[in-house]
Amino acid sequence: MNRKEALAFNLKTYVPNKPCKRGHSLRYTTSMSCVICCKPEKSAEKRLRLEAIDNGLKVYNTGKPCKNGHIADRYVKTRTCKECNKNAATRHREPRPDISLFKRRNSKPLGTAEVLHNLALPTWAHC
Ligand SMILES: [Zn+2]
Ligand SMILES: [Zn+2]
Repeated sequence: MNRKEALAFNLKTYVPNKPCKRGHSLRYTTSMSCVICCKPEKSAEKRLRLEAIDNGLKVYNTGKPCKNGHIADRYVKTRTCKECNKNAATRHREPRPDISLFKRRNSKPLGTAEVLHNLALPTWAHC
């Protein structure tokens, strides 16, 4: 069974012609990465997180980069790294007033009289 055959049969794993660096011969069809080598990494991260929960910590550190390449503490609750969280927070905060204004303007369409009144206001205010 090679990768092509595994893909043809829609199998998740296949047995490669050559074993991996550590001598395992079972790989994921999509990523071509060793199934056995992948496992300890995942369980190590899980274990670190569970340890942090046990110790009452809010963050844990896997020492590995997140999907965006930050090597930072991760929040136990969300599993997102601090850097990513910071970026998401600033990205979230900025457009908010605009969105609410936009929504308000659109949710209550002003009648013609109201629009005229609003337009007239500054002129009257000047006088
Ligand atoms: Zn391996
Ligand atoms: Zn990150």
